[in-house]
Amino acid sequence: MADSTAVSEPKHSGPRQFDLDRCVHCGLCLNACPTYRVLGLEMDSPRGRIYQMVQVAEGAPITDAYRQHIDLCLACRGCESACPSGVRYGRMVEDARAELEANRERGWWSRHMRHLIFVRLLQSRTALSVAGTMLYLLERSGLKALARGLGQIRLLGPWSDLMQLTPSADPPFFFSKIGQTFPAEGERRHRVAFLAGCIANVSFARLNEATVRVLQKNGCEVVVPEGQGCCGALHLHSGLPEEARKLACRNIDAVIGGEFDAVITNAAGCGSTLKEYGELLEGVPEYAEKARRFAGLMKDVTEYLGSIELNRKLGRVEAVVTYQDSCHLSHGQKVRRAPRELLSAIPGLEFREMAGADLCCGSAGVYNVVENAMSMEILERKMETVNATGARIIATANPGCLLQLQAGVRMHGTGQRVMHVVEVLDLAYKTA
Ligand code: SF4
Ligand code: SF4
Repeated sequence: MADSTAVSEPKHSGPRQFDLDRCVHCGLCLNACPTYRVLGLEMDSPRGRIYQMVQVAEGAPITDAYRQHIDLCLACRGCESACPSGVRYGRMVEDARAELEANRERGWWSRHMRHLIFVRLLQSRTALSVAGTMLYLLERSGLKALARGLGQIRLLGPWSDLMQLTPSADPPFFFSKIGQTFPAEGERRHRVAFLAGCIANVSFARLNEATVRVLQKNGCEVVVPEGQGCCGALHLHSGLPEEARKLACRNIDAVIGGEFDAVITNAAGCGSTLKEYGELLEGVPEYAEKARRFAGLMKDVTEYLGSIELNRKLGRVEAVVTYQDSCHLSHGQKVRRAPRELLSAIPGLEFREMAGADLCCGSAGVYNVVENAMSMEILERKMETVNATGARIIATANPGCLLQLQAGVRMHGTGQRVMHVVEVLDLAYKTA
């Protein structure tokens, strides 16, 4: 891992002035904002939040109300897509959160819990494996099913919804595949690196395997580089940019020099941050150029498959399928067509667009846990539009969205399968 002295650079004291200046207060972003759609409050809209950031930049005190309005933002970046002035809202809210964190007096418990999660857990394969094994044993004991059942009938009070959101452990964990190379099926046409994430190695091990298989089917030799780890997205969204920089350096060291055509992720939230390593490390001389090269190679798996000649030996998947845009793929990376085209290429599959597919599902990293009430309200609305399509498979492109939508299906008892786009493709290749 990179020396921490190499990444102790830029400390923003809040959103950058030229970002704040870009907003012309037109309000065209309001309807694209999930929190504004629920609350109808200007201060919980993008324009209102920017207005408050400007006030703080001009010397107004940081109040609890300001903190709450910024905390309630999903950082979904729906407002960025709607904004005609090119406001970099995602960067602004990250900067605002870093400033809030720097000015926040946390108690002993809160500081230690954050250290435990963001440093000890997410950055350690051993800790994640231990946590995953404990979770698995809990599931096998039936306690988790019991807790979910009690949550379903609201017997766990405020914990009821949280019980639906806990990820499952999916052994054998994908950590055992890190460091391995998987050959292309048939002629090797591409050589790619695959970044497997952090929690995904434990909770989405089968999704990671499906991703490797689909890439192999499409002529890719897939290397899962040894030194990789967490991408730092959760750290960045939680006001910990220094930790995010350390993790970025580690991933860059793992990949740069490997002669890859592309670096692939199947997690839209991670991909968005991975593509922004150039910006994250622009003030770190030792890494700035490498970070730009790394960012240039980053591709979401759907984006990459959409850019190469697709292996069309796909079997039939007889199902009506709808697609929920993952915010960080749609708004963060502007990848919208590729997942839809990949799904539509599968014989037998009937694709039905849902209304407001690019509105956040309420997942947003750890938002569904820390802002659970708002997250559940947003999910409720999402499930109404999903159910209106009549689809039996809900496809999406991010592990966090998979968890959130699976919780929505359980809470509504509607029984759809929730799958990543590459899992639907994998199914089609298997049935070919
Ligand atoms: S963020 Fe963009 S769309 Fe929203 S008020 Fe500002 S300029 Fe208008
Ligand atoms: S990032 Fe999402 S929740 Fe936050 S202001 Fe923009 S649209 Fe609203």
